[in-house]
Amino acid sequence: MISFDCVELAEAVTGKLLWGEPDVTFFGVTTDSRKVTKASLFIPLIGEKFDGHDYIEQCFKAGASVCLTSKPIPEVAGCSAVLVDDTAKALRDLAAWHRKKFDIPVVGITGSVGKTSTKDMVSCVLSQKYSVLKTQGNFNNEIGLPLTVLNIDSSHETAVIEMGMSGFGEISRLTAIARPDIAIITNIGVSHIEKLGSQEGILKAKLEILEGLHKNGLVVLNGDDPLLKPLKGKLPFRTVLYGMHGGSDYTASNYQTMGEQGTSFEITVNEAPYNVEIPVPGIHNVYNALAAIAAGIEMKIPMEIIINGIKQFSPGNMRQSIINHNGIKIINDAYNASPQSMQAAINVLEEISSGSRSIAVLGDMFEMGNMSKDLHYSVGEFIKNKKINYIITVGQDSGMISQAVADSGNGEIKLRHFESNKEALKYILGIVMPGDYILIKGSRGMKMEEIADGIMKSE
Ligand code: ATP
Ligand code: MG
Repeated sequence: MISFDCVELAEAVTGKLLWGEPDVTFFGVTTDSRKVTKASLFIPLIGEKFDGHDYIEQCFKAGASVCLTSKPIPEVAGCSAVLVDDTAKALRDLAAWHRKKFDIPVVGITGSVGKTSTKDMVSCVLSQKYSVLKTQGNFNNEIGLPLTVLNIDSSHETAVIEMGMSGFGEISRLTAIARPDIAIITNIGVSHIEKLGSQEGILKAKLEILEGLHKNGLVVLNGDDPLLKPLKGKLPFRTVLYGMHGGSDYTASNYQTMGEQGTSFEITVNEAPYNVEIPVPGIHNVYNALAAIAAGIEMKIPMEIIINGIKQFSPGNMRQSIINHNGIKIINDAYNASPQSMQAAINVLEEISSGSRSIAVLGDMFEMGNMSKDLHYSVGEFIKNKKINYIITVGQDSGMISQAVADSGNGEIKLRHFESNKEALKYILGIVMPGDYILIKGSRGMKMEEIADGIMKSE
């Protein structure tokens, strides 16, 4: 936990002491008034619905010793306040200042899909040899990332940091704070295309990560991604590619499924062959494991130990967790959805349900702008030749997924569309049987976990 005094704080955030003693020390930083701990620093942020400044008094009562503020606030005995122009910028500046105090290698991860999964996979590998700080959950934005970086302390030997974005300039600000030594880009999909205009726009936004990369740093790119592959040899950094289709520095071959138990693949590193087992299903996890291998090798971890690290991986909450309820296998992937991750999840359903009935319950994917209908349709085109028994779509544009399957003339897949989770659940409870595999996936706002929970509550 970090500790410093108001003089250092004012210097780090280019603020000035508004009132209180300059030598008041604080331990730990929070932006959430409910999480204030004793003698901590509270940074009030101004959001769409709330202004953290309204909670400053309450935070001091709860034990905070220092706060930042961009407005005049009444004095509190024994505490201190530091005045800044913009508290969100001050949070970022404080994190950037803190990062500079630790000369440890940082792995920064961005990309359209698979950031959290790759972050967890890389952390599993690096933890085999180092004490690792990693982004908790999905704390990957302009608030979560600085708070993550502020948690670096002298016990950490490395940090694995996820960087998310929804528009230009965000990754630029995040990489300036995290200052990675290894920059991983998982893929260039279509998430946030509404704001970024095109896939080229998305690529440009993701490449902002390089602005903060150490000059001797390593770029790790998905070599099977048509937009990333051509960058090898064109960037002013050492660059390695990973993939499954050949031509990459780290190439997986002989992909084997072990059903629900996971998958395995072979890889040759420094002319020696290795077999790698991943304890979760899905080809997409091979990509995440390959990125972790590239990071592990760069961090001088022997391949045998990297392989042990990959075996420790477990998926995050609602990211394809497989739950067995009375013999019904629920693949809960309700955390979020994009066309790419829909495809990844459909592959998993097909892979592990072999010989059993498979049901895909797919909700709307958001933030697709005027391409939304086409992109939903493209998911249906991906599904049309898959061995899936039911496609149940929920919401609005997801109906285009069913439409594409219907247009393909594949009468083997039963199609149903519902406008709400409630209606879909009612139908599902009428058809689902022990032995079935049922995938549940949609954008966060679709709250598809309601369907998973509904099945779990059924007899
Ligand atoms: P967010 O933008 O919400 O932070 P993310 O990029 O962190 O998302 P994850 O949370 O790791 O992505 O994964 C979300 C879903 O995407 C997973 O449940 C899985 O279905 C799929 N997925 C994970 N890794 C990949 C990958 N490398 N390629 C394609 N799909 C993936
Ligand atoms: Mg994430």
